[in-house]
Amino acid sequence: MKLYEFEAKGILREFGVAVPRSKLVSSVDEVFSVAKEFGSCVVKAQVLAGGRGKAGAVRSALTPEETVKIAEKLLKKEVLGEIVEKLLLEEKIDILNELYVAVTVDTFQRKPLILIGLKGGVDVEAFASEVFKLSLESWSENKHSSKKIEEFVETLFQKTLIDPRVAMEEFKKTLLSMWELALKYDCELVEINPLALSEKGLVALDAKILVDDNALFRQTKIRKQAQKRAREILEAEAEKAGFSFVLLQGDIGVIGNGAGLVMGTLDLVKDMGGNPACFVDIGGGASPDQVKKALEFVSRISGLKVILVNVFGGITRCDEIAEGIVEWLQELKSQEKPILPLVCRLTGTKEKEGQKILKKTGIEVETNTEKAVIKATKLSKKEM
Ligand code: GDP
Ligand code: MN
Repeated sequence: MKLYEFEAKGILREFGVAVPRSKLVSSVDEVFSVAKEFGSCVVKAQVLAGGRGKAGAVRSALTPEETVKIAEKLLKKEVLGEIVEKLLLEEKIDILNELYVAVTVDTFQRKPLILIGLKGGVDVEAFASEVFKLSLESWSENKHSSKKIEEFVETLFQKTLIDPRVAMEEFKKTLLSMWELALKYDCELVEINPLALSEKGLVALDAKILVDDNALFRQTKIRKQAQKRAREILEAEAEKAGFSFVLLQGDIGVIGNGAGLVMGTLDLVKDMGGNPACFVDIGGGASPDQVKKALEFVSRISGLKVILVNVFGGITRCDEIAEGIVEWLQELKSQEKPILPLVCRLTGTKEKEGQKILKKTGIEVETNTEKAVIKATKLSKKEM
């Protein structure tokens, strides 16, 4: 799992590595006062993709007004395929030199690897030949590894390969903290690029941390972050697609038209001994396409066992709901994807037409909510 820059910097700070003064914001309203406090500012879009600098998603500003302008251009916009939900505002650091440092895995040797590059920054790939490598013996805390790291740094300094303005002890300390951190959080990568030399010494201007997914079972803190993030991504996407969505803990995906109806359905599911996985309100007058989108969306929830669609036709037409369901089923079939059990309750406008459309696909339509809920709950208890 890849951490966001602000998360990675939080961990670095915890291990004593210097990072710029910063503030995380998620709305433009928060920007001005922070920018005023920092003076000149670097605005950084928090997306997981690399290469933000080149994509214009890391920009510096001299005045608070300019910072606000940049924030407006980045927040809620798409950058490298992701919607920017958060910006990291940082006090701008004057850079004397940029280095590259990383703790990673040598997958070939199956050993930890320390990398030190003399030229960090956005073009680091171009300087791959100027990267020095140190292999360590094992992924465990031991004096031997720390000593090897220290000796490695000393050698580079003796050969005057590292900028002499860098304090050797500080550089050692940074690497040792990264090593310690990599062990504690089961990291596949801890990378600082650039590690900047400033008037005040070394500062991590950017940070990338990858936690081994196979270790998430014992990384409680990181795992919780991962779950929270999955929920935020789903909710933001639902908002973009135009329906209200709340992720719950259960295994029955509930979709309906109108908040009251959906909430009533959730209560009924609970009463019947089932567990709703979500609240989805497709609103009034949903088109077949919106219905299909909602179904696609809900089927992404992990651990889902049944989908329950409860529609009371008014402005919403049951035949259009049915068409959306059929389109969704056809698409799943053509992609040879597994089809989850679906329970449908349709009444109201164009009810007969809707039932007819669904019958062709083998789906029995219920007209009574209670019956539909009981059916869905039973299906959710079935061993799969
Ligand atoms: P990336 O392109 O996603 O790796 O984004 P970075 O966080 O590495 O930022 C890109 C570049 O912006 C860095 O390599 C730095 O040269 C520059 N940069 C980032 N923060 C600062 C800062 O505080 N001061 C200055 N002068 N430059 C910065
Ligand atoms: Mn970087």
